[in-house]
Amino acid sequence: MKIISVINQKGGVGKTTTAVNLGAGLTKLQQKVLLIDLDPQANLTYSLGVLAHELDNTIYDLLRGDVTFDETVVTKNNLDIIPANLDLSAAEVEFAGLPGREFLLQEVLDSVNSYDYILIDCAPSLGLLTLNALTVSREIYIPVQTEFLPMQGMAKLLQTVDVVKKRLNQNLEITGIICTQYDKRKNLHREVVKRITDHFGDKVFSTFIRDNVSLAEAPSFGLSIFDYKASSYGARDYLNLSKQVLKRGRENG
Ligand code: ADP
Ligand code: MG
Repeated sequence: MKIISVINQKGGVGKTTTAVNLGAGLTKLQQKVLLIDLDPQANLTYSLGVLAHELDNTIYDLLRGDVTFDETVVTKNNLDIIPANLDLSAAEVEFAGLPGREFLLQEVLDSVNSYDYILIDCAPSLGLLTLNALTVSREIYIPVQTEFLPMQGMAKLLQTVDVVKKRLNQNLEITGIICTQYDKRKNLHREVVKRITDHFGDKVFSTFIRDNVSLAEAPSFGLSIFDYKASSYGARDYLNLSKQVLKRGRENG
């Protein structure tokens, strides 16, 4: 079972889009996938059309220990989802004083073992919720929007990962950088890809996610890109990325 956090403390870089569509792509490749929405904005939850009555129990209740995993999980088109809602915004403050506060998600997932992949969609912050994700993950994927020079913002993220490795989870590794909203006609985009590759080498997936309007439209229909428009560039890119993820996973055991 591979547990992967999708993180970047910058918003709008494609974390949620990647968690949803990489998750959906992996299910198309016969993998059993769990998506965890760990962002109080709950974009992942709404992107997949989770209905109001399916939100009785959320990740917030689960982290509090008020409900069980099975009482929280929702299934949509073969994807299992632990949904979130705005209640989760209370968590950072509410859990701040708890001993072992970084291990709440790990406790929840301790008894879960029926998945090939668990993808955690993180909030655009490096707060307690994201620390919980990093504590339980083996791998980190960082989506990077090629529209912006990313390196300054990245320093803080890399620092946080180092601290988590030292204090909370020595098995943690950044294993994937995903270039998103890529437009090869733009010099800046090519320049950004070059800089990212100079820094991260072969951690950068060679599949770039192109800028594709269908990817932006799909969430309002509550569908992954494969169920919304299977013929789009977005679907092709995320399927290729999913294949690469699976291949890397097999190579690395
Ligand atoms: P984050 O979770 O990092 O905040 P999102 O995945 O929500 O970022 O993406 C931010 C916005 O950009 C959303 O409106 C999303 O639909 C859109 N978007 C993401 N990836 C693409 C893409 N490859 N092409 C076009 N729009 C995209
Ligand atoms: Mg998001």
